Amino acid sequence: MTGFSDDGSPDGRPLRLSRVTAAAPNGPVELLLTGPCGRVIGRLRFRTCRTCRTGRILDLWICDAWHNQGLGRELVCFVLAQCRDYRWNTTLQSRTGLAFFAAMTRETAVSLHHGSPLCPELPLVA
Ligand SMILES: [Zn+2]
Repeated sequence: MTGFSDDGSPDGRPLRLSRVTAAAPNGPVELLLTGPCGRVIGRLRFRTCRTCRTGRILDLWICDAWHNQGLGRELVCFVLAQCRDYRWNTTLQSRTGLAFFAAMTRETAVSLHHGSPLCPELPLVA
């Protein structure tokens, strides 16, 4: 469990995490991080397959003003904690994304490299 809650983030910032689940089974799930202003300041989209215990990170976005505060890291850790022992990869990574996911791989010991979906049921395009 990470520090996100209705009371805010670990250091008291009033951030709220909400989860939007697609209607389709195995459809994309979206985690939205809402800032004190009520605006969405971060988003992580991913999908998982329970059958083969794989996951794929489709998109991670943090608002410029909230960069370098560990929010992307917390979103990823939150998802990994919910899907223990899953194998993961990601869609194509930007230059920043490459560095970020390499650091996350080192920290979590969960491989988060770019690649085609690990589950054949997950379509290539998000
Ligand atoms: Zn599968």
